[in-house]
Amino acid sequence: MVQRYVFVVIFCLIFSEVCAQHQEKVDFLHAEVNVRPNALEKTIDGRVDYKFKVLEHVDSVFLDAENIDFNAVLLNHRKVRYKISDTTVTIHKKLKKNRNYDLTLEYSAKPKQTVYFLGWDDDVDGRKRTLPADGQIWTQGQGKYSSHWLPSFDDMEEKVEFDLHITFDASYTIISNGKLRKTKVSKGLKTWSFDMQNPMSSYLLGFAIGDYDKQELTASSGIPIENYFYPQDSLRVEPTYRYTKEIFDFMEAEIGVPYPWEDYKQIPVKDFLYSGMENTGATIFSDAFVIDSTAFLDRNYVNVNAHELAHQWFGNLVTEKDGHHHWLHEGFATYYAYLAQQKIFGDDFFYWKLYDSAQQLNEFSKEGKGEALTNPKASSLTFYEKGAWALVMLRNEIGDTAFKQGIKNYLNKHRYQNVTIDDFMDEMELVGSKDLSTFKRSWLGSSVFPMEKVTEYLIGHSTSVAAFVKLQWELTTSLENNESIVQKYWEASDNEEFKARLVLKYHKLFSHRLLKEAFESKSIKIRQGLALTSSKIPLELKTNYESLLDDESYITQENALYRLWISFPQDRALYLNKTKGSIGLPDKNVRLLWLLLAGLTKDYDLDRKEGYLSELLDYTSPTYSMGVRQNAFGIINEVLGFTDQNLLDLIEASRHHSWQFRKFSRNLLDSLLTVDEQRNRIIELTKGLNEEEVRYLNTKLNLE
Ligand SMILES: [Zn+2]
Repeated sequence: MVQRYVFVVIFCLIFSEVCAQHQEKVDFLHAEVNVRPNALEKTIDGRVDYKFKVLEHVDSVFLDAENIDFNAVLLNHRKVRYKISDTTVTIHKKLKKNRNYDLTLEYSAKPKQTVYFLGWDDDVDGRKRTLPADGQIWTQGQGKYSSHWLPSFDDMEEKVEFDLHITFDASYTIISNGKLRKTKVSKGLKTWSFDMQNPMSSYLLGFAIGDYDKQELTASSGIPIENYFYPQDSLRVEPTYRYTKEIFDFMEAEIGVPYPWEDYKQIPVKDFLYSGMENTGATIFSDAFVIDSTAFLDRNYVNVNAHELAHQWFGNLVTEKDGHHHWLHEGFATYYAYLAQQKIFGDDFFYWKLYDSAQQLNEFSKEGKGEALTNPKASSLTFYEKGAWALVMLRNEIGDTAFKQGIKNYLNKHRYQNVTIDDFMDEMELVGSKDLSTFKRSWLGSSVFPMEKVTEYLIGHSTSVAAFVKLQWELTTSLENNESIVQKYWEASDNEEFKARLVLKYHKLFSHRLLKEAFESKSIKIRQGLALTSSKIPLELKTNYESLLDDESYITQENALYRLWISFPQDRALYLNKTKGSIGLPDKNVRLLWLLLAGLTKDYDLDRKEGYLSELLDYTSPTYSMGVRQNAFGIINEVLGFTDQNLLDLIEASRHHSWQFRKFSRNLLDSLLTVDEQRNRIIELTKGLNEEEVRYLNTKLNLE
């Protein structure tokens, strides 16, 4: 998966470590899964038929089953003795070696996690909103355990061929793992039957239910690709899924092993827990990546698109034995996603991306926080970015041909099985005819980031990175004044990435003439750098800054609007009129700022001023995505202060299923509780709420 904020250091959930227990003596082969989600009750009714083979005599066999009630448990179609605990169901029976058995489980589940029901709650009048069009149900298996909705295996080593049949109201679309074989409608309900040909670990199970249309593509190899979208987003399909076929074709050619599943689907969902999750053949991703073409430069789906696709080989086809080998998933997916983007956006993109992550990893390492890639508790920065770097350096060491052959051998040898880092390194040593123990020590076993080697590699491969490193060295050592050093480097280069970084990092050393030149570069990226600088706008550059409001970037527009509004009060109405129609990124960055500034600007559009402010205040409501809500909470808190409804929305947000948004909301709530007046208001407001709704707040209020 891709974490929402890859560069924020968050500790990866190491899923296989804690509770998974591998049953060596039995092998589950096939599962026929029938599930029926009940949206309004947030429950799942299901029946699963497993086929398994007994490898050694055993007295019992178990499955992970979190909070699941069983209506029937049958072994070879006969009732059998079974025991349930909070987390498992165990069948007690002497089972004979080399025999195959059928196990049927009928159950109902009320998932506390893993399955998310969004938009089905009561409306404002307390009526049940019977099947709203924007209702969604989706799953997140990795780190959350599919055993919350299906008796299955938290252990990643149990690989099963799952065929799913999912039944729901006929007006919604259902997407899941495997090829859709048929649908059947009966009494307003539709059953969607999916078929897989090969086995996978349970954490890769997934489904999404919602109101969707789809774009259909075919890869050069003939694999069908389906890109899903909400019906109202048809104009966003092209920019969102831009380069999908190119990425797919690149991945198959680069990896050298054909895509290992029947088809590939990508499904955006609301308020997803991460950026994306690589369920086998059915990637689910955050709809915050569903964008128009202006947002493409600011925040596109390309990296996540490529990352989750790469996992279909690295993670899904060959799966880590446990968390010690997590590099084999995230490092590889990150690396191949960077390669795909190198193909699309060019070498500069690739080397500057590596440069950026090296800076972070080096800082981390210098602070004594560095981690070895074999540490199962390492942060995502280590698994993803250091993991990608390790592959860059390994390829550099053994050469392209050997590297590609080694990857191919590794995947083919272990296909549909579990792997360790040694399995991978053995193949690489074999194919490279080279002892790799120094590489292993430095890149896999050590917690120190080898910055010197990395810098040497970058300087040798990218002239623009080399120039940047040289510039930084000159700025600290040369006797020449810094302004002229920067100017000299600016003039000597025609590299966009280089110049954008020069602006971002050293704009304070730019003369007005040089800044003017930067504006005239016509590069959206360099100009975005200018919009993001924080110094006061000089009068002689006013027109230049004003021109930023027309750029094809919402980050540029937002920052330019704010800075112009602050710097030139007499022209505020002009700037507001110019940006009136702009909504911005999926988190409505431009619109929210615009509403605030329009509300604050004296004499601006007096008739509608109230409306502007109330629109802004409304954006904290659960109707909106967490990105919009978080933005709105931030702006309102800083400038306007919360209304009662905002506070109620904040209390609601403190129980949100996304931990990032929950944490943000709880921190904000905590800070309000330190002010007596706010605290009393909050206590007064909670009187109308039930216990579940104020759970977090109560723990806070009782503690203090
Ligand atoms: Zn990933």
